[in-house]
Amino acid sequence: MPERQIRIWPSAADRFLACPSSALPPERPELAQDPSSPEARSGSSGHEVAACVPHGREPDLEEIASRYGADPDDLGYIHWAASKAWEELGVYFPECRDEVKLTHSLGNVELAGDELAEVVLSGRLDLLAAPLLGDALELLSVGDWKTGRGRTTHRAQIKAGALLAVYEHGMPATGAVLGVEIWLRHGDREIVQLDEQAIDGFQDELLTAAGDVGRKWGAGPHCVFCQHEPTCELRAAWVRSSIRDLCAMVLGDEPVPREILGTTIREQLTLLRRVVANVDKLIAAELERGPIDLGDGTAWVYGERITKPISFSAGAHVIDQVVASPEELDRVVKVSKDKLLKLAASRVPKGKGAAAKRELLSQLGQAGAILEIPGPIKQVVGIEKVSGAEPLELGEADHG
Ligand code: SF4
Repeated sequence: MPERQIRIWPSAADRFLACPSSALPPERPELAQDPSSPEARSGSSGHEVAACVPHGREPDLEEIASRYGADPDDLGYIHWAASKAWEELGVYFPECRDEVKLTHSLGNVELAGDELAEVVLSGRLDLLAAPLLGDALELLSVGDWKTGRGRTTHRAQIKAGALLAVYEHGMPATGAVLGVEIWLRHGDREIVQLDEQAIDGFQDELLTAAGDVGRKWGAGPHCVFCQHEPTCELRAAWVRSSIRDLCAMVLGDEPVPREILGTTIREQLTLLRRVVANVDKLIAAELERGPIDLGDGTAWVYGERITKPISFSAGAHVIDQVVASPEELDRVVKVSKDKLLKLAASRVPKGKGAAAKRELLSQLGQAGAILEIPGPIKQVVGIEKVSGAEPLELGEADHG
């Protein structure tokens, strides 16, 4: 039995195939993802709520939310979305078990320096169904709840879950394992059928990648949540080269002095966003006239999107029945600062608008009405010099 072990988790299988060396232990484990981060807490609480659905259990949203520091309203939405999804998908998961921990050894591989390592696949499956019909395995299904806001397919994760399920139960009578990914916030799902050949092929892929541990790295969007992320030089270079690519697109070949490059990029990106917004408006205006023929046999057609905002003035007495505190009112009613300031400026004679806006802001500040809520998306708020850092230059991008 080799002393060295390479452990692969289904949830990290997509990253492992793109960057086998991500399976190496991190140099600075203390910097790896904090399990108490908002993302981790949101994922854990959402999964706990969704796990109640297959068994018809009513989750205690307030209790789960307070345990994870999550938003009970958001968890209520996750529960509703999981229940809706289950109406359609429950049929694929008879006698469903959830949070099933499975581990299996896939074999040994030779690493650099002729070192032998055992490859172990181990993880928890959100949903697993393996009902028997007589002595035969009637069907085999694995499923994964996605509670995040992105809608990325993690095909390797599903295949890894299927591989573990086959090791545990064997192939079903249907000849294929069903793998289901469910994006709760998108009301969307994907179902794949994996026959024996696909499962075997995937196992070979994992073993080949395992042999590349310590030899191959690959940076990309999959770096998110990698335990090496805080210290990985390749990832840092990939971020820089992505910015360079964008800059080259925005700035073209125009020579820009290095000392103002960072500032120029920011200005250009702001400009680019404005240009995109203007083109969007142009397209919308054009679509009003009729379809836009793209000249390649396709056309964009006009479609009306109807939004249904709730009028606070008309519905205040109804909203009042649901909202129990000023904090809850802040959560459901959003006041547009820009529109409020414009309104204040419109109420005073010309030339006095700026003073009226300042006065209004000062009054709101004194009343404690200006809240500071950190957004989920971090923005560039300034540019500073970093000593010893690689200068950002335009040129050939070199993705790892
Ligand atoms: S951060 Fe990205 S490039 Fe670095 S080890 Fe992890 S997956 Fe690979």
